[in-house]
Amino acid sequence: MFRYLLLLLLLLLAVPPTMSTKAHALEVVASIRPLALIADAVMAGRGQARQLVPDGASSHEYALRPSDRALLARADLVLWVGPAHEQFLGPALRGKPVITAQTLPGIALLPARRLADAMPVAGTTDPHLWLSPANAATVARALAQELARRDAGGAGLYRRNADAFAARMQQLQDGLHARFAPLRNAPLIAYHDAYQYFEQSAGLRHRGSLTPEPEQKPGARHVLEMAQRVQKEGIACLLSEPGADTALAARIFGRQAYRVAAVDELFVGVPRGPEGYAAGLQNMAGEIQRCLTGKP
Ligand SMILES: [Zn+2]
Repeated sequence: MFRYLLLLLLLLLAVPPTMSTKAHALEVVASIRPLALIADAVMAGRGQARQLVPDGASSHEYALRPSDRALLARADLVLWVGPAHEQFLGPALRGKPVITAQTLPGIALLPARRLADAMPVAGTTDPHLWLSPANAATVARALAQELARRDAGGAGLYRRNADAFAARMQQLQDGLHARFAPLRNAPLIAYHDAYQYFEQSAGLRHRGSLTPEPEQKPGARHVLEMAQRVQKEGIACLLSEPGADTALAARIFGRQAYRVAAVDELFVGVPRGPEGYAAGLQNMAGEIQRCLTGKP
């Protein structure tokens, strides 16, 4: 009798039912928060991606810490925008299984724009591709496919999650169009030229930027040109980011009434989770709408 009980006990210990999925959980690393949020939607019910670049750090110029390198070394899959955005990451990813968003089939890429007149610059890529719901859906589907290949037990779940996310993105896209249709002719300018994908998704009228990247200070002559355009065209909205130079806005707008939107392009203000990406984009839409209309 005792022997049977012992055998039963050993069997129970050998197959803890809740541990079996945990032990096979994939270690997925997403370079920046918006991509981690897309992964949260795809992996919901099965796991959670790790976010590499911490909130508040610049994702254009980040220096990997030893702990980041260790995280990358044990990752089963790394999701990143690509060299157009996270140049610092390229060398560390050699030989790693990766999903590079900028080279996925179906991703819509836009060229960078000239600051002065917002004309496209041939041969360049605007890296902020995650700010389009359609691109987010493409990333989600590609991630689901890769995860399904590596974790057959979760394949159905990943696909269902990605389908639901893509449907949500379509809904979000339609909502943006409807929301901004009455504001199609309201001009805006941006501090850091980061919102082109969102502007196209929403149908916004962009009239120039001050700097290609937040780390670069705008030139004095360009600031003067923008001040003249703002006067001439009656522009009253500047898309900026938390912590940007407020004295600069005063120099550009002078005595005119103006509003500054604090746009959170990396979705730092929303909690991680399957709803995070949509919430981040909705926050952005709300902030830009307030900037254009002056209404809360
Ligand atoms: Zn940027």
